[in-house]
Amino acid sequence: MKHLDDSGSLKTETRLSHLGRSPAKHAGMVNVPIYRGSTILSETLEEYGSRMQDDPTANYGRFGSPLSRALEAAVCELEGGYRSILFPSGLSACAHSLLGVLKAGDHVLISDGVYAPLRTFADQVLTRFQIRVQYFHPTQPSELAAKINANTRAVYLESPSSLTFEVQDIPALAAIAHQSDALVILDNTWATPLYFKPFEHGVDISIQAATKYIVGHSDALLGIATANEAAWPALRSSAHDFGEIAGPDDIYLTLRGLRTLAVRMKQHWNNGLELAKSLQAHPAVDKILHPALFNDPGHAIWKRDFLGASGLFGVVLRPMSQRQLSVLFSRLQLFGIGWSWGGYESLVMLVDPSKRTETSLPFAGPLIRTHAGMESASDLIADLHQALRAAGEMTGGGVVRNEEAALMAGLSEPA
Ligand SMILES: *Cc1c(COP(=O)(O)O)cnc(C)c1O
Repeated sequence: MKHLDDSGSLKTETRLSHLGRSPAKHAGMVNVPIYRGSTILSETLEEYGSRMQDDPTANYGRFGSPLSRALEAAVCELEGGYRSILFPSGLSACAHSLLGVLKAGDHVLISDGVYAPLRTFADQVLTRFQIRVQYFHPTQPSELAAKINANTRAVYLESPSSLTFEVQDIPALAAIAHQSDALVILDNTWATPLYFKPFEHGVDISIQAATKYIVGHSDALLGIATANEAAWPALRSSAHDFGEIAGPDDIYLTLRGLRTLAVRMKQHWNNGLELAKSLQAHPAVDKILHPALFNDPGHAIWKRDFLGASGLFGVVLRPMSQRQLSVLFSRLQLFGIGWSWGGYESLVMLVDPSKRTETSLPFAGPLIRTHAGMESASDLIADLHQALRAAGEMTGGGVVRNEEAALMAGLSEPA
């Protein structure tokens, strides 16, 4: 393949076809092949030395392979950072980004809306290392300003929030963090590197749970963290010192998924919005949580900072009985009931956002997290509406609030 001299001037769709590929180095193969290996051999001591000089980590399989470097380079360019590094899961990328920059005695401020397992990690693990963990309201930068102090080393954000979809004012939050010399870490999974450019908005480390949209087919788990130049040494050490390494097959699947990300995201965006609009006036629906809707509280910031929307959004139902909820879920034919999202297939899950400490939610629920897959929007709409109709026809049984509904369904933490 020809070398692309100025890939920065090309459109995203074009870059997705070319990033990270080098057929001339791989017997002409279009795709970078799967490299399996622990030991990396050199013919001579001199070769070993020059290998180390080219890339100090290219001397052992735990530091990755040409396939890892290809995926890292591709995602790094799309995110707009300095360097990226792979982790075996999205949560691993989140946890190690924090571990890389924090030490005993430090303070970390975390958005109250973050992915629940990250919250568990912060509360259960970071605190064991004498790191003080505090939360702030996702949409109130003044709360961050009031809580930040000289020991605050990191501010951890996720926009929009998992489950409740509040859009955060990242530039405003980053300005407050940087005034106190705290690093800004963002979970950018919802927007993907195509729809939010973290380093243009003041982020220092950006995380992708590639498991979701980048893999795109629900068949692999992988995390990717990208840093700016200042944060890169800490991020890299955190991966290498803990021995974090992603498996070669999963890396291959992730790079393959990346090639079609732009075209898939358009379909997810369209389907999510169509579904959301079709539910807005439904009598069983209290609110739709989707930043791309005009009346969403996060719409103005979404429009200012984002380049698109994914297919994941929230549906708050008017209180209904447990029996009605069961009917609603079991009547759905095109939506799977299960965790994760970002695959080609549509999903629904009953979620419980009540673990928050700083936010009082303006609804009782039940709350359903919906992932619009790549099916026809009209089929998805028809399916959801027939299931709602069936639920509406059920009578009897007391209404349940969100927490009770989630409890009855035996819900644990979302993914
Ligand atoms: C799923 C998810 C993660 C974790 O990714 P895994 O690969 O499942 O560990 C992190 N952040 C967000 C927002 C997620 O939805």
